[in-house]
Amino acid sequence: MDQDAKQRSSVGVVGAGIQGICIALNLIKKGFDVTIIDRDEPGKSSASYGNAGHFSPYASLPLNRPDILIDVPAMLLSSNGPLALKWNYVPKMIPWFLKFIKNCTTKKMKYTAKYMHQILDLALPAYDELFQDIDVSGLVENKGIIYFWTDRDLKSRELEINLRKELGIEQKLLSPHEIHDLEPHIRKIYHGGVLYPSARHARNPGKIFLKLFELFLKRGGKFKKENVLKIDFSTNDKPIIKTNLSSYEFAKAVIACGAFSKKLTDQANEKIPLDTERGYHIHFKGHDHLLSRPVIFLNRGFGITPMEQGLRVVGTVEFGGLNNPLNKKRIANLANNAKYLFPELSEYCDEWLGFRPTLPDFLPVMGPSKNHKNLFYSFGHHHLGWTLGAISGKIISGMIAEEKTNLDLSPYSSLRFS
Ligand SMILES: Cc1cc2nc3c(=O)[nH]c(=O)nc-3n(C[C@H](O)[C@H](O)[C@H](O)COP(=O)(O)OP(=O)(O)OC[C@H]3O[C@@H](n4cnc5c(N)ncnc54)[C@H](O)[C@@H]3O)c2cc1C
Repeated sequence: MDQDAKQRSSVGVVGAGIQGICIALNLIKKGFDVTIIDRDEPGKSSASYGNAGHFSPYASLPLNRPDILIDVPAMLLSSNGPLALKWNYVPKMIPWFLKFIKNCTTKKMKYTAKYMHQILDLALPAYDELFQDIDVSGLVENKGIIYFWTDRDLKSRELEINLRKELGIEQKLLSPHEIHDLEPHIRKIYHGGVLYPSARHARNPGKIFLKLFELFLKRGGKFKKENVLKIDFSTNDKPIIKTNLSSYEFAKAVIACGAFSKKLTDQANEKIPLDTERGYHIHFKGHDHLLSRPVIFLNRGFGITPMEQGLRVVGTVEFGGLNNPLNKKRIANLANNAKYLFPELSEYCDEWLGFRPTLPDFLPVMGPSKNHKNLFYSFGHHHLGWTLGAISGKIISGMIAEEKTNLDLSPYSSLRFS
């Protein structure tokens, strides 16, 4: 390839989370010359490292449900509930909350569910393609995911179950007896549950991520550990990525910085209302034999996944922005909730805080920038960014390669905010 052709096909991907790496791998497959730029070592601390490891193709139903607004005050007041606020951040988040409330109608909820379903339905086949090229034996389990609840919570579950039925999502309602047969070590506090048989889980998301990253390097991808400060544009609208150390011109660029993307999209004169739902994890080492698959206790809004690291207890939706420190109370809350289900648990380790990137309509932003045709976005996949990594990689690389698609991608465009 001559220098000009190479330059024409060069792509800079900002962010080495699961979005960035999957986009980069798909671009390399299509013959592009790809450089990923990240300020941190890939897969060591980002959301893509610390998540619950669920591959959740069933999870089309968004959080912007009409009934959520009724539940919020009780959730905030509950000492063991899933929701928390950092009061110093509330004023900054008011515009996001107002947009979120506007999206909590049945019509908007169904719209989000439809377009989440469109991509979630393709999420696992897209991973299967990527996993042909790395060894994931022992790292991905196909045992489904169980959600369970107590009587008090049955009503809102019915709404979800019916909507999933409408979308044709595979689900199996479970009696307490059946839950016990599947997961005999959980204390029998539940009155009902549901199994999503198509779901899978990662036994170590960080390890899978690093295997994908190694594959990227092996295939000729380049990596720069630098902090991206700014994206400028040349006279012919080519992106020039400016970092703390250097400056790089590419034919095209992608912003895939998860919850941190807004700083760069603001500079591109977009008004994308991206914010973060902070979440936490801890590990109970050596106890993964207590579960065969991930479980979620809906009343308290937290989950436990059996992983190589032990039982990973994951949860909390905390509105507090990107700069507030880790909240010890949320960690204690997770530990207490885990012990409620498994009284034999005692010591835990690895307190981790991560940032879900979330838009108020609970759809991701995927597509070209409205102001620069050579700049693309892929962020805002909220609670489902791990599940949606591989399919987003296919979608964005297809857009950059100007391929035709049968998917309706307009709902993911940043244009919806202008
Ligand atoms: C507690 C928790 C549990 C979760 N559980 C699940 C789950 O079970 N299933 C699921 O599907 N999803 C889950 N998620 C969501 C999922 O983890 C995220 O949506 C996803 O990891 C986001 O990936 P990303 O690539 O967009 O961003 P990230 O993984 O956050 O990566 C962004 C990268 O950009 C880099 N970056 C940012 N700014 C700059 C800059 N200026 N210059 C250079 N680099 C920069 C960062 O260093 C980082 O490496 C969970 C999230 C949390 C927090």
